[in-house]
Amino acid sequence: MTIDCCSNIAFIPDDIWEAITIKVATDSIRSLCSLRMSCKAAHDAGEADIVHRSVSIPPPHATPWWWCLNPEANRFFDRCMAAGNPELLFREALRELFIRRNENVGIRMLNSASSRGHAAAKYAMSMMLMLRTDNNVEKQKGLELYRELDAAGLLADSNARCFSILTVSWPGEVQMPRLEEQHTVCASPTCSTRGHMPLLYDYRRRAAERNSVHAFGRASHIPCIQCRADYDLQAFVNLP
Ligand SMILES: [Zn+2]
Repeated sequence: MTIDCCSNIAFIPDDIWEAITIKVATDSIRSLCSLRMSCKAAHDAGEADIVHRSVSIPPPHATPWWWCLNPEANRFFDRCMAAGNPELLFREALRELFIRRNENVGIRMLNSASSRGHAAAKYAMSMMLMLRTDNNVEKQKGLELYRELDAAGLLADSNARCFSILTVSWPGEVQMPRLEEQHTVCASPTCSTRGHMPLLYDYRRRAAERNSVHAFGRASHIPCIQCRADYDLQAFVNLP
């Protein structure tokens, strides 16, 4: 149904149309398309970069398969990417990091998505920084990001988002970094948790071999946050 062009709604100022369109775009692509088809003002408002930056991108399992074959859909996603949509930046960053192996490009994209409030991008960024062995400042910055996500209660969801993209979008194509002993985050001589970590890793490994849900157990019960980061780091490199 289109809106009567003679009704009062046609006189809503452009900036209000833009605000309405952004709000609708954060709900879903379908809602945005419906709104844009309702009248010319909504259609024009939907052209703005900020709308493409704000639009909600569905998770891979909820994305219609034919979108990737549709030129119009591809043009739309290209515009969203060019406008700096954080979810698309996050996904492209994972592709650059773990398929194309372009670490610098991937980190730049994660940084950009993270600065726009994308928690999973911040999580992936913290993991990548904690994997650095050549730069202790970067490693500490990674731990700082990890602490912020922990304080905000966003670790589990962020880990699940990374898992979803890496396993559903590119099954079999992803190559995660190798974790060596020098990557260990907790180096505290007074840590009372570190000595027990091999038992936890062993428990998780055996759970994974049995395809048990305990293989995906979270680390929130580990009192030392650096050991918790080590536990999550190991889960991250074994994600796909
Ligand atoms: Zn520790």
